[in-house]
Amino acid sequence: MPSTGTTWHNMKSLRTRDSKSGSQGRSLSMARERYDVIVIGAGVVGSALAMALAERKLSTLVIDVDLSGRLSSSERNAGGVRATWWQPVNIALCRASIGYYRSIAREVGFRQKGYLWLYDAETWPKALAHVELQRSLKHPIETLSTREVHARVPEIDRLEGIAGATFSPEDGLINPNLLKNHYRERSRALGAEYLDGVYLYAIRAEEEADARLECWRADRPLSESALMRMMAQDGPGDAETGHLLTLRAGAIAIASGAWSANVLRLLDLPSFSEPVRRQISVVDNRETNFSAYGMIVDTSGVYFHNEGPHILAGYSPPDEPSGYYFQYDGEQFFQNEIWPRMYARMSCYERMRHVTGWAGLYSVTPDRSAIIGCAAPRVYEAHGFSGRGVMQSWGAAKALAGLIADGRYPEDLDASALSRERFADDRLVREELHI
Ligand SMILES: Cc1cc2nc3c(=O)[nH]c(=O)nc-3n(C[C@H](O)[C@H](O)[C@H](O)COP(=O)(O)OP(=O)(O)OC[C@H]3O[C@@H](n4cnc5c(N)ncnc54)[C@H](O)[C@@H]3O)c2cc1C
Repeated sequence: MPSTGTTWHNMKSLRTRDSKSGSQGRSLSMARERYDVIVIGAGVVGSALAMALAERKLSTLVIDVDLSGRLSSSERNAGGVRATWWQPVNIALCRASIGYYRSIAREVGFRQKGYLWLYDAETWPKALAHVELQRSLKHPIETLSTREVHARVPEIDRLEGIAGATFSPEDGLINPNLLKNHYRERSRALGAEYLDGVYLYAIRAEEEADARLECWRADRPLSESALMRMMAQDGPGDAETGHLLTLRAGAIAIASGAWSANVLRLLDLPSFSEPVRRQISVVDNRETNFSAYGMIVDTSGVYFHNEGPHILAGYSPPDEPSGYYFQYDGEQFFQNEIWPRMYARMSCYERMRHVTGWAGLYSVTPDRSAIIGCAAPRVYEAHGFSGRGVMQSWGAAKALAGLIADGRYPEDLDASALSRERFADDRLVREELHI
């Protein structure tokens, strides 16, 4: 296990901008002076972890600079849930999560309408080679010929380039906001606490003593521009007032999404993950009704599904640079990336119209699998989900809570393949079924 020793970084701009000197220490809204675990980040992963820790009766505090999640990936995703992956650990974490989502399906809008995945001649043999693995891990999956694809979805009427397809009926779509709220409500009911407007800027973590977190807490809700500045590590901006806060815990868990690299840097630890923009277009297509289908993934990489009166369609350009970019390219993205690919597959899309869209961040690792485990003494992590954070959140949280509480993964949820050591030991968990 890597050791960080004692590191003590700080952001001068925050130290010099404490609006209430003497206000360091416990916030009035906190029940304790010390927690078993402090989770950094209250997205879908941090909230799931809070629930799993609280279920194990560990006192848990979750801090976030913006609980409403204006920049968080959990507020900007497509809501796809699938265990159709090629790596056993990814299949297992998603299968476990699907089992839980099914048990709360109505509350979180989980619809098991399946994933229909179309493959070209190059990828079809690889897909076929993984079907047995998927089935052996109890993930039901059918293989379809080109003709069967058309029979199942008659709107897919241009079949050129399709070598075969898989259909996985237990995959589906979820409402990610409802899921996050479920985790938060249940964790709160079990005693977990959430602290809003708290930006972490320094950590001391060592084997022998509790971890100490130095934070800045906004006195009032942060403006969008102040939030952007905070996340870019430029401090809160002159208009914002706040106070310094020191927090103490037996362990910390980094669930800071695409910003995990910044948090890990406070401990001189490499993150191995980087932020990459992903965009989704909202399309008006009243002439067809795709509500009976789940997610469809085309050979071209475009993926789409029905959402109310609209279609949500996404595409990940392979040359997208890394960085904290949130701009949605609008009509241009739709016209260049989405429409040509969808129209090439379905003539019914001739008259589809662009309505709106958004951009958010994937936290991407070199092998496209998440990083879960112990990063250093008293420091745990769950990030780098590479577009899989919603669908793996329950399983990943359950596994990590076991590691934190018992020092080992639960027997039925072993995430050790996803530890950061794999990058040094060349045990990469290469996930190719990545969109
Ligand atoms: C366009 C798009 C489509 C996607 N589609 C899917 C999909 O279909 N299915 C799926 O499973 N996943 C999908 N994803 C990925 C998924 O959204 C993410 O994997 C998931 O939301 C990550 O959750 P998280 O909790 O790790 O991070 P986030 O939701 O980003 O939460 C991290 C939190 O940490 C906080 N934070 C960071 N640094 C600090 C700090 N220093 N101090 C205090 N707080 C801090 C942030 O404010 C934020 O709220 C998609 C993502 C995008 C962008």
